[in-house]
Amino acid sequence: MAVFTSLGLSEWLVRQCSQMGINKATPVQENCIPAILEGRDCMGCAKTGSGKTAAFVLPVLQKLSEDPYGIFCLVLTPTRELAYQIAEQFRVLGKPLGLRDCIIVGGMELQTIAMNKPFFWESKSEVRTVDELDQRYILTPEKVKDSYLVHLIQKFEDENSDWSIIIFTNTCKNCQILTMMLREFKFPAISLHSMMKQKQRFANLAKFKSNVFKILIATDVASRGLDIPTVQVVINHNTPGLPKIYIHRVGRTARAGRNGVSITLVTQYDIHLINGIEEQIQTKLKEFPLEEKDVLKILTQVNVTRRQCEIKLESTDFDEKKQINKRKQMILEGKVSSLLML
Ligand code: AMP
Repeated sequence: MAVFTSLGLSEWLVRQCSQMGINKATPVQENCIPAILEGRDCMGCAKTGSGKTAAFVLPVLQKLSEDPYGIFCLVLTPTRELAYQIAEQFRVLGKPLGLRDCIIVGGMELQTIAMNKPFFWESKSEVRTVDELDQRYILTPEKVKDSYLVHLIQKFEDENSDWSIIIFTNTCKNCQILTMMLREFKFPAISLHSMMKQKQRFANLAKFKSNVFKILIATDVASRGLDIPTVQVVINHNTPGLPKIYIHRVGRTARAGRNGVSITLVTQYDIHLINGIEEQIQTKLKEFPLEEKDVLKILTQVNVTRRQCEIKLESTDFDEKKQINKRKQMILEGKVSSLLML
């Protein structure tokens, strides 16, 4: 790993990095920073958690410090949470410059990008997930899945004093129901999904980051880029349909050299999906050992609790809100005029 001064970064930036515990450049930084400083267009591909943000934040700050003026850099991100997280890195590293930033979020992401003979660098690693990640699966019948989940969390709670888990699931409704259900079991769970107001999303994320709540139940809105170093476990409540989504999700743990575990709940209908994932990551998932009889002991209680939560949610306007959000999205995408929707 190279030191930052050898990449052409100024002393003040190197000092800022070391205050954040960043002393040696990661491969994506070592390779891309000099090209960006040279003024070349650049595309950098590397595993999640490998320091891609600093790879562009550092040279941007360096250039800005050499020739400071008005609006200097525009960063586009796939999720709102990621926009805030990247702004935070700009703020911390750019503090000596008195850097000012502005975050603009909305409903429209990017359609085209114009580039001029970009410099391209891709991490040579064959495997798309890091070695520090212990990747496991649990084979479960669909109807027993929630009992496995409850049992797993109970086990983590019993065996660890300091723990935090992200549980990914496929729909906003499922996310909401699982949160209600885990709370019935007195677990410190909180949710993050796109049916929530943005203010609530940020508030919940902050509560999870500060460890007030140790379980975050999320849809894929949280699967990209979120960097919460203390997450030790990622549980996939549903097996992701695409290997790419799996890689993003499990990348929320084992970040920046730390260890982490991912556990994917696999039903009889998901075996082919696991085969696809294993092929992509070039790693065989290992079975997570659990006592099945302990899981079966809580089966009825878990299934009854879930049903009660479903009934509770049906009595709210959750589905109606979903319809309204869908309509808003269609209007924004210009698929239908607002007049017609009324
Ligand atoms: P990223 O992949 O940009 O989300 O970064 C993942 C984490 O690694 C963040 O917490 C960064 O602060 C941290 N990080 C970035 N670059 C380095 C580095 N060179 N050495 C150690 N940690 C780093």
